[in-house]
Amino acid sequence: MKVLKFGGSSVAKPERIRGIVDILKGYYTKGEKFTVVFSAFGGVTDALIEMSALAASGDEAYEAAFDAFRQRHIDAVEELLKDEFRAVVLPELERSHEVLKNLLYGVFLVREASLRTMDYVLSFGERNSAFIIANVLRQSGISASYLDARRVIKTDKAFGSARVDFKLTYQKIREHYAQHPDVQVVTGFVASAKGGLTTTLGRGGSDYTAALIAAGLDASVIEIWTDVDGVLTADPRKVKRAFTIPSMTYAEAMEMSHFGAKVIYPPTLQPALLKKIPLYIKNTFNPSFEGTLISDHADPDGHAVKGISSISHVALLTLSGSGLFGVPGIAGRLFSSLAAAGINIILITQGSSEHSISFAVQPAVANKARKRVEEEFEYEMSMKVISPVKIEADLSVVAIIGENMRYQPGISGRLFQALGHNGINAVAIAQGSSELNVSVVINRTDEAKALNALHESFFLSDTKELHLFMIGVGLIGSTLIEQIKNQGAYLKEKRGLEVRIVGMANSRQMLFQEEGIDLDNWKAALQEKGMDMDPAIFIGKMKELNLSNTIFIDNTASAKVAGFYEDILNSSISISTPNKIAVSSGFAQYQRLKAIAARRGVQFMYETNVGAGLPVISTLNDLIISGDQILKIEGVVSGSLSFIFNNFKAGTSFSEIVKQAQELGYTEPDPRVDLNGLDVQRKLIILARETGLPLEAEDVEIENILPTACREADTVETFFGALANSDPHFEQLRAEAEAEGKALRMIAKLEGAKATIGLEAVDSDHPFYNLSGSDNMIVFTTERYKDRPLVVRGPGAGAAVTAAGVFAEIITIGNYLS
Ligand code: ADP
Ligand code: ASP
Ligand code: MG
Repeated sequence: MKVLKFGGSSVAKPERIRGIVDILKGYYTKGEKFTVVFSAFGGVTDALIEMSALAASGDEAYEAAFDAFRQRHIDAVEELLKDEFRAVVLPELERSHEVLKNLLYGVFLVREASLRTMDYVLSFGERNSAFIIANVLRQSGISASYLDARRVIKTDKAFGSARVDFKLTYQKIREHYAQHPDVQVVTGFVASAKGGLTTTLGRGGSDYTAALIAAGLDASVIEIWTDVDGVLTADPRKVKRAFTIPSMTYAEAMEMSHFGAKVIYPPTLQPALLKKIPLYIKNTFNPSFEGTLISDHADPDGHAVKGISSISHVALLTLSGSGLFGVPGIAGRLFSSLAAAGINIILITQGSSEHSISFAVQPAVANKARKRVEEEFEYEMSMKVISPVKIEADLSVVAIIGENMRYQPGISGRLFQALGHNGINAVAIAQGSSELNVSVVINRTDEAKALNALHESFFLSDTKELHLFMIGVGLIGSTLIEQIKNQGAYLKEKRGLEVRIVGMANSRQMLFQEEGIDLDNWKAALQEKGMDMDPAIFIGKMKELNLSNTIFIDNTASAKVAGFYEDILNSSISISTPNKIAVSSGFAQYQRLKAIAARRGVQFMYETNVGAGLPVISTLNDLIISGDQILKIEGVVSGSLSFIFNNFKAGTSFSEIVKQAQELGYTEPDPRVDLNGLDVQRKLIILARETGLPLEAEDVEIENILPTACREADTVETFFGALANSDPHFEQLRAEAEAEGKALRMIAKLEGAKATIGLEAVDSDHPFYNLSGSDNMIVFTTERYKDRPLVVRGPGAGAAVTAAGVFAEIITIGNYLS
């Protein structure tokens, strides 16, 4: 005998019921013996609760809610049954609706819906659905009859969630089935107590009904048909990449369901386990898929962690004080007092110092629990050896579950690493001695992020999703987007990285798409669907989404955006940016940003601040980390100045070259911004700070190469006029250098603690002598690289190389986040 159960979502619509009839006909024609349990149509139990609440509050709107309930079932009958069956079913249904209507009117009159009344009201959902479907099955040629489970499932009078009298129930089931050999179509969820009073088995209880019938009949298998492909590695509503667990033990399934996996109602597993009846979880919407098998067969080769679950709302209560230390019986008194008050404890943890005991309960009973405990320890509290109970609310518990964790060290390490890298604080930790479950209490706002981070860490170690939030989609930003788009498939396949841009903004608009913005259409989407840009709101939204593996990218040159870095790092989000402002402004700020990143365990990366995509800062850091001594750093670190001086040769004039550089886009629109050395100064400051020097802008000596008239010119045009007048001056400098076999270069230099920027004539064996184009070159003279310095050279500006540098940092951060 097989026991099948179809949940509310599987019978939410008439066409779904037809699908189920097909599944059942398949079994029937094969000659399999089965019985089938049905839940109320999807949403019906909630609707019944709501209409009773309206009636109890004296709101006449309950009538409209009742009408909708009635109509829904009549519509189903009309859609599913032919006249001959309709003629029998409709009057019966209407009789039952009449009873419910009167019942609700009674609730309306007395303004009260007790748990006992509620159970009776709720029973109409399951009774309607099983009754209608029994007739649909008969119409399809299956010899079936309707069984109201109140006839066979016997409970106590704990209305709302009654306890089953197993012996009596099993006996009744056996008797009933012995006399009814046709297919029994059973109401889930409902049962009855002595005197025939209607009870229910608790929300989600139809699963339990199926297990009870299976145990009573010693069935060969239970099949729970629902709307997902079995028990998944995590709740699919919270973790999109959750996947089916092919097989698990009863104990694992029990832990998963107790820890919030709604797919199975927890008490269901007990009767199945007792009789060792295997249980399949299958998908009505995908019937050929195998689903999950739950049995007593452990799978020693499976993942160490089988699944991840969470309970979204808990409160944590802590009892603490010196009165706990070394005093036996405290825990006993604590938990007995809670048990006596009927308070269920979700999790317990005690520090080894015995100074405190914390326990989690549902928030609704937190105050009651505190009161009970404070009564119990009134004497100790009056003696001040135990402190008043502390309550922390708005918490969640996340748990990793699996039998194989027992055999594997390092699981907890991985758990806390995944949480830590995502900036999630563990409020309390508990591990059952069975090692079947490690639970962590966290802030509720971090729940989804924690689930996703843990899921990725335990199940998808070979694939990882990065969530990018990018401000600045100008030349560098749009090039970066293009690179990410083109490299997406490769990164996914070869590196297991899925890079999604979840938020993007320019100075006018911002756009968010949690599943990732379509990179083929981002410009139009940003323009058409974007909201008004405000950096504070952008960053607020990034924090609120609270996605795992979030990386912030600032492609602007904006001081305003840079002003948010502290907040971002403090929110445990890594940053990659070509924006130099944050790192090159005050030294105190630089230090603070570094310290926050270190404290939060996140990355703050700005390699592209010096030499764009060239590995300048990383090379410098590698030298320092490996114990080398930096003696001198010299650099041509401005592509514009490099171009100007590399091309300033005999037969040209300085002003012409500057003009050419401007026209080719090598300089800012006003070339003085490059020629005054301020950009070079920022880069030198950054390099100096990386070596540990607390350098400020005023510590850098800048040689002013422009004559006064050039500096003071009002417009770019008059500047060029003044510059032309100065051509003889520059020509003289050039000719003098050339006469000595030298070339002019604008060099940034750090030697000891001295930082200078100036024009120098370098001779032909100097690395800068042969620079060409707009290349950057940085020369590190160190203890190890003294005779032949270490040189980094290449194009040090331009959107493509800068974007590539940022892209590389994104991948580095991504690798770190694993
Ligand atoms: P039914 O109406 O069939 O009883 P439920 O809504 O009670 O269905 O349970 C199925 C739902 O449980 C799924 O739609 C899914 O959203 C949720 N769920 C939560 N955790 C899990 C999990 N680990 N695996 C599968 N489903 C889960
Ligand atoms: N219909 C009941 C509920 O919604 C029982 C069930 O679906 O299992 O809780
Ligand atoms: Mg259910």
